[in-house]
Amino acid sequence: NSNQEYDVIIIGAGPAGALAASLLVQNHLRVLVIEKQTFPRFSIGESLLPQSMVYLEQAKLLSAVEASADELGFQYKNGAIFNSSEQDSIFDFSQKLSEGPAYTYQVKRAEFDQLLAQKAQEFGADFAFGYTVKSIEFTPEPILTISHPKDDELKLHSKFVLDASGFARVLPRLLDLDLPSDFPVRSSVFAHISDNINNSSFDRNKILIGSHPQAQDVWYWLIPFADGTASIGCVAKPQFFDDIRNTEALDSDNALLLHCIQQNKRFGALLSEAEIIRPAQQLTGYSSNVKQLYGDHYALLGNAGEFLDPIFSSGVTIAFKSASLASDCLLKQFNHTPVCWEREFSQPLKAGVETFKAFVHSWYQGQLQQIIQFEEAPQNVREMICSVLAGYAWDEQNPYNQNTQRRLNALGELCAS
Ligand code: FAD
Repeated sequence: NSNQEYDVIIIGAGPAGALAASLLVQNHLRVLVIEKQTFPRFSIGESLLPQSMVYLEQAKLLSAVEASADELGFQYKNGAIFNSSEQDSIFDFSQKLSEGPAYTYQVKRAEFDQLLAQKAQEFGADFAFGYTVKSIEFTPEPILTISHPKDDELKLHSKFVLDASGFARVLPRLLDLDLPSDFPVRSSVFAHISDNINNSSFDRNKILIGSHPQAQDVWYWLIPFADGTASIGCVAKPQFFDDIRNTEALDSDNALLLHCIQQNKRFGALLSEAEIIRPAQQLTGYSSNVKQLYGDHYALLGNAGEFLDPIFSSGVTIAFKSASLASDCLLKQFNHTPVCWEREFSQPLKAGVETFKAFVHSWYQGQLQQIIQFEEAPQNVREMICSVLAGYAWDEQNPYNQNTQRRLNALGELCAS
C-alpha cells in the first residue's frame, strides 16, 4: 500500500533487516521491509557465533529459533576446530573469557532468514517481497523508488531508511559511498553436501576450519547441519582457483570444490563419501568498505556497510550488532531525544569490527594460525582468543579487543620463539 506512511523503510530482509524490523516495530515504529527476492531463498553465511544469541534474545527472536531448531535442522554449535598440518586445535566456547551464551547454531539461511522475517511480520512489520529498491532521493526525508516485475514503479516515503541490502550495497552504490576493502580480492567456492561422515569421533557441534598444507592464505570450512547435510567451502585468491581449473582441466564448480577439499587430508578423509546436493558456486570479491556508515536520514547495516572476510564467521553477528545499535539510535530519535550517530552507532560498531579485522589480517599473515595451534599458550590467553572466536569482540573486559594487532604480534612472537 503506497499510501501508508512509514517511519522507517528497511532495504533487505536478511538477518540485519529482520532484526532491525523486529526491534523497531515492537517499540511502536511503523516499519516496512522491502525485499527483492521471495523467501525462502539461499544465502551463504551459515555458522553463527554465540554473541549473536544476545541480539536474537534482545529482539525476542531467540525463542522462535530455539523452538524451530529441530524441525529446521539447525545444528547446535559450541566451538571451532582448526586443522593444520594434520593437527587439530579445539576451541570450546565454554572456555571463553566473556560472559554470555557459549553456544549457538549452524543454520541453513533459507529457513533461518525466513523464520526471522516471519516473526518480524508477526510483531507488526510490513514486508514487500519481490520488490527491488531502484533509487532514492532525500527531500530531506527519503523517497524510494521501487519496482516489481509485474507492477508499475512505486514511490514510497518514510522518515528514515536503513540499508540492509547485503552484498548488493544499495545505498553505498547510489550515494557513492563505496571504498575498497583493506583486504585483497578473495574468492570462495561452496556447496551443500550430504556429508555421509561415518567417523564417530567427528564432533558435529563444531565448525571445522582447515588450512592448506602449503599456501597459508587458502582454507576450507565444514559446517555440519543437524540433518546429515553440511556446508563446505574453500577460500583462496581467484588465481588459485583459475590455476587449478586449468592444470586439472576441471569443467565444473563441483569438480573444483571436490578437488580443493582433498588438499587438506582431514577434509579429504572425512568427506570421502560426500555427495553434493546443492551445486557448488563461486563468489568473488565480497570484501568491501564504505566512507561512512550513516548520514542524514539513513544508516547502513550488516554487509551493506563493511564486510571483512568469512574466516571467523562474524558476518551475521556484525549484521545483528549494527541493527541493534541503529535501532537504539532510531528509537531515541523518534522519541525526540538527541542522538549522536557517530558516538552511538558508528564508533561502537567499529570497535568490534576492528578486532575482527585484526584477527583476519593476522590469520592471512599466518601469525594467528600459529597462535591457534600453539597449545602451550597461557590458559587465560586462550580464553581471551576463544572469546573473540565466539563473537564477543565488543567486550571491553577482554584485552584482545583493544590494540588487537599489537597484542597478536606480541603473542605471535612468543609462539614463534
Ligand atoms: P543479506 O543476508 O545478504 O541480506 C540482504 C538482503 O537484501 C537479501 O535478501 C537481498 O535479496 C536483499 N536486497 C538486495 N538488494 C536489494 C534491493 N535493491 N531491494 C530490495 N532488497 C534487496 N557470516 C556468518 O555469520 N557466518 C558464516 O559462516 C559466514 N560465511 C560466509 C561465507 C562466505 C563465502 C561469505 C561471502 C560470507 C559469509 N558470511 C558468514 C557473511 C554473511 O553471508 C553475511 O555477513 C550476512 O548474510 C549479512 O547479512 P545482511 O542482513 O547484512 O545481508
